[in-house]
Amino acid sequence: MVQSLDRSQGRSGAAVAAPPDAPATFTGNRALQIEEKLIFEQGQPGRTGVDLPEPPKVKDRLNGLRRIGEIGLPGLSEPQVVQHYTRLSQKNYAIDMGVYPLGSCTMKHNPRINEKVARLPGIGDLHPLQPVSTVQGALELIDQLAHWLKTLTGMAAVAMSPAAGAHGEMCGMMAIAAALEARGERRQRTVVLAPESAHGTNPATAAALGFTVKPIPANDRGRVDLAALTAALGPDVAAIMLTNPNTCGLFESEIIEIAEAVHAAGAFFYCDGANFNAIVGRVRPGDLGVDCMHINLHKTFSTPHGGGGPGAGPVVLSEALAPFAPYPWIVRDGSGWRIAEEGSATLGSEKAATPLGRLKAFHGQMGMFTRALAYMMSHGADGLRQVAEDAVLSANYVKARLQDVMTPAFDGPCMHEALFDDGFLKDTGVSTLDFAKAMIDEGYHPMTMYFPLVVHGALLIEPTESQAKEDLDLFIAALRSLAERAKSGTEAEAFKAAPRLAPRRRLDETLAARKPVLRWRPSNNPPGGDPLKQAAE
Ligand SMILES: *Cc1c(COP(=O)(O)O)cnc(C)c1O
Repeated sequence: MVQSLDRSQGRSGAAVAAPPDAPATFTGNRALQIEEKLIFEQGQPGRTGVDLPEPPKVKDRLNGLRRIGEIGLPGLSEPQVVQHYTRLSQKNYAIDMGVYPLGSCTMKHNPRINEKVARLPGIGDLHPLQPVSTVQGALELIDQLAHWLKTLTGMAAVAMSPAAGAHGEMCGMMAIAAALEARGERRQRTVVLAPESAHGTNPATAAALGFTVKPIPANDRGRVDLAALTAALGPDVAAIMLTNPNTCGLFESEIIEIAEAVHAAGAFFYCDGANFNAIVGRVRPGDLGVDCMHINLHKTFSTPHGGGGPGAGPVVLSEALAPFAPYPWIVRDGSGWRIAEEGSATLGSEKAATPLGRLKAFHGQMGMFTRALAYMMSHGADGLRQVAEDAVLSANYVKARLQDVMTPAFDGPCMHEALFDDGFLKDTGVSTLDFAKAMIDEGYHPMTMYFPLVVHGALLIEPTESQAKEDLDLFIAALRSLAERAKSGTEAEAFKAAPRLAPRRRLDETLAARKPVLRWRPSNNPPGGDPLKQAAE
């Protein structure tokens, strides 16, 4: 979208791409940074990379509905397709390229052993509709992963099918709604409490299920204000949705008291487990009084994500919620492993209950399951514990080495991410956005900006456990130099002009949001123009 918007501002793109002091080039390319047209602007009509035999003549049975016009697909040879997508891939910053400090997203290294295992033909080539007798190993794999998840979280059951964190939230909150329904309290309990710092998906999930969301303020230590929470609890409250460690990168030190207060009020405790990577192997959420929690396999257990890539959000459930878990369940009986898609659950609880149905056509994200289990088994229990310890150590190292030039949002040590506010930029004319854009020129993907909302001009840095110390040191040095330049008070213009060296400069984000160019139209951009003629124009 943004790409096409940008293109409409300059035909070759070169005028937009090159910094003002860089020489214009004939091609618009800048050394080995190649300008890339949309695939629809490339190739020639009728060209193709495959050679199919002529279809046999058959009688037209479409009653005049047969397409006569061109199908409108771009005509490219195989090398053109390969080059196009390779060039596109090089425009994307990636975990495999360097520090990717995007707070809350846990952009950590994806070990290659995960990929090797996920690509084994017996796993990579599975089809969800294969006869169950031919997928016994895959079902056992899902069950083993479920076992690890229940063990690591200390919970009774796990629903494996949700496709991402937000989908897991939906699953968990639907289980809570089903449990309230079974108790005859669904109509009365209409409120879901969420801290002001909550990830946007939390209130969105609650609202999508018809609950009213009530925000709970944070105290000056960046934690949930227990008094405000207790005051908000009542017979109308269905649940609290709480992240721990929270989105300020802080452990909710009163979590036991929070759980007790919530339960005493007859409500459920939904924990957003997206930050589980900070405590995995150290704390079992089940011991803290959590009723259900989604786990972002693609964050804590490393599988690649970002750019809309696949995720997986299994939801662990307490005894009270287990019977409402959605289908399917992987079960083992006399004839081996099977996929249970109907009937009521016992899942460790004797109470028969009505599961909430299906959330997904098939059984979950097999590739993600495989990567997560490979990650767990290759690290082992001790290794997973060290993952959490190193993630927390890295974040505290970054915080400690930046706190004299930037302004930490809260005092004291943090968990897996370091949160700064824009206090250090006060009166410099440089905003959080300008600072982040300047990081791009230094070769870094910016940190998360302006989230969480409880902090002014937030900069949220999650270094993860997978960066070497010397790489973190260079990152820290680069940020220190930017902070000092900003504070010199003379460089606001330079910051406003950043990024100067990226393939695209600063985009008009308002225009992109208000008037997105979502559709490519062939009339304005005929494919395969003659570059000699275009140069003459
Ligand atoms: C990432 C994240 C989510 C949403 O997870 P998705 O897999 O992106 O849907 C929810 N809450 C928090 C705190 C997160 O960091």
